[in-house]
Amino acid sequence: MERFVQVSVLSESKVWTQKGKLTVDQMPRLSDVLLAGNSILKYQINLEWEKEQVSCYGNLAGTLSISCDRCGQSLKFDVDEEFTFKMLPETNLESQNGKEILLEDEDLDIDFYRDDRIDWQGILEDQAILSLPIRNLCEEQGQPACEIPLNSHGIKNLNTENPFASLIKPGWQNN
Ligand SMILES: [Zn+2]
Repeated sequence: MERFVQVSVLSESKVWTQKGKLTVDQMPRLSDVLLAGNSILKYQINLEWEKEQVSCYGNLAGTLSISCDRCGQSLKFDVDEEFTFKMLPETNLESQNGKEILLEDEDLDIDFYRDDRIDWQGILEDQAILSLPIRNLCEEQGQPACEIPLNSHGIKNLNTENPFASLIKPGWQNN
């Protein structure tokens, strides 16, 4: 499956839709976070061309297999995300010369695409990243609280910064 959609072939009368399952190898930025096997996300993504911009909306649901930040035990993390935002060509940004773009609907987020193409798999991967908890501990995923012995090397992983913090924009997260 081609991971890019050419924007100029989107039509105003027909919504571009893709449905399927996202596998771990389609989420390379999560390869350090996800444990082998058992991670599968069903998705639907829609792209709709309207008035010089692209509406992107869809959902992502399934289970990710991630490890506890404290003890390393494998935990299942349920994902059920809906997303909606608009996309504009990046050239719009340049022609505005840094001036703020006026949004019709200030509740919606805006993202940009370049070279007439949209990386829809990248969008889904972003959404999967955004669904992850900042910190993942046994007791926060319905397991008994775990403990690790003092001086375990695992402790240095505690409170490390979320490597995807820069991706998290207000409004992108569910509720
Ligand atoms: Zn744990």
